Amino acid sequence: GQRQATNLNALVEESLRLAYHGEQVRNKEFQATLTTKLDPGLEAMQVVPQDLSRVLLNLLTNAFYAVAEKRRQEGEGFQPEVCVQTQRTDKHVCIRVRDNGNGIPAAVREKIFQPFFTTKPTGEGTGLGLSLSYDIVTKGHGGTLSVESQEGQGTEFTICLPAEESVS
Ligand code: ADP
Ligand code: MG
Repeated sequence: GQRQATNLNALVEESLRLAYHGEQVRNKEFQATLTTKLDPGLEAMQVVPQDLSRVLLNLLTNAFYAVAEKRRQEGEGFQPEVCVQTQRTDKHVCIRVRDNGNGIPAAVREKIFQPFFTTKPTGEGTGLGLSLSYDIVTKGHGGTLSVESQEGQGTEFTICLPAEESVS
């Protein structure tokens, strides 16, 4: 794909709509609470929009899966939440996808970016989402993809892109 000037806030909203729609089709038992905090100061960025929206869909799909799993375990007392944030800093533009699912144990965290690594049952995960996302963000865009997770509390993935890709 070709890089083009892209409004990342719009890309986030579109990916969120797609992911949330997919989630509602799959899952009729509850609705996750969605929060977006979009930085109004974001400038357009030179990115490959199809590739980045794939990354966002992967992260969102994982987040919805994680909260659904916790909901099945804990029942109605647990309200699933997914939050997406964009933020312009001095040198970066960052996109964060956070969920309040079960988190990722340290031993698992070491492997999540490896191709074909999955903890999901056959048919529910290929284990390719994060490895592909990692390549798109790092090799494709010169950015970073990192994860912070607290077992039992939730997970946050952060995409940071160099701000010099901003279109001024
Ligand atoms: P898949 O979703 O097909 O399993 P991914 O590469 O997207 O493959 O993710 C790899 C693994 O990372 C998952 O199977 C899961 O164990 C873990 N993981 C990813 N995102 C989350 C998350 N938000 N919460 C908990 N675990 C996660
Ligand atoms: Mg996945």
